Order: sequence, then C-alpha cells, then structure tokens
Amino acid sequence: MSIMYSRTNLSALIEGAEKEAARGCGQSDVLYEARVQGAYASILNRAPEAERAETEAALRKRGFDPEFVPYEAGEGECSLTGIEVDCCPCGQHP
Ligand SMILES: [Zn+2]
Repeated sequence: MSIMYSRTNLSALIEGAEKEAARGCGQSDVLYEARVQGAYASILNRAPEAERAETEAALRKRGFDPEFVPYEAGEGECSLTGIEVDCCPCGQHP
C-alpha cells in the first residue's frame, strides 16, 4: 500500500502504517515495534523537505524513535520476533 504523502492525510498515513505493522505480528511486541518504526521512517522519508520537521513532530507523538535500532536476538530467541524459538509463531523454525 502506498498512499501519497500529503500533510493533510498525515494522520491517515500514520494510522495506516500502524495497522499494517500490527497485521501478522501475533503476540510479538518486538516485531510490531520494528515494523512500525520502519513505517514511520518511510513516512518521514516521503515528506517534502519543507514539511519534515512538522512530520517528524507528528510521528514522534505516535512513538517514532529516529534512533531506533532493531532488536538483536539473544541465544535461542527468534531474530524476527524476540520470542523463544520453541514458542515463536513466525513460521521460520521447523
Ligand atoms: Zn520466529
């Protein structure tokens, strides 16, 4: 999905990104966070130069963290979800 960026539909863009990020995340907050932060960053990237500050402020209100670093999985944890591989619902663990 790609709604054209415009300042008038910014909140719709943000809501859409959050819904999209939540889809298929199951119980994983880690996965949701990684997806939603990526979506926020891509909204900001699409904002025209003149509207970046305003857009970033709106995104920060929703929890955007420009310093966000994707989660690094520990021993026995899924790198996608941060859930122990035995319980992880992502489907990548045979
Ligand atoms: Zn997994």
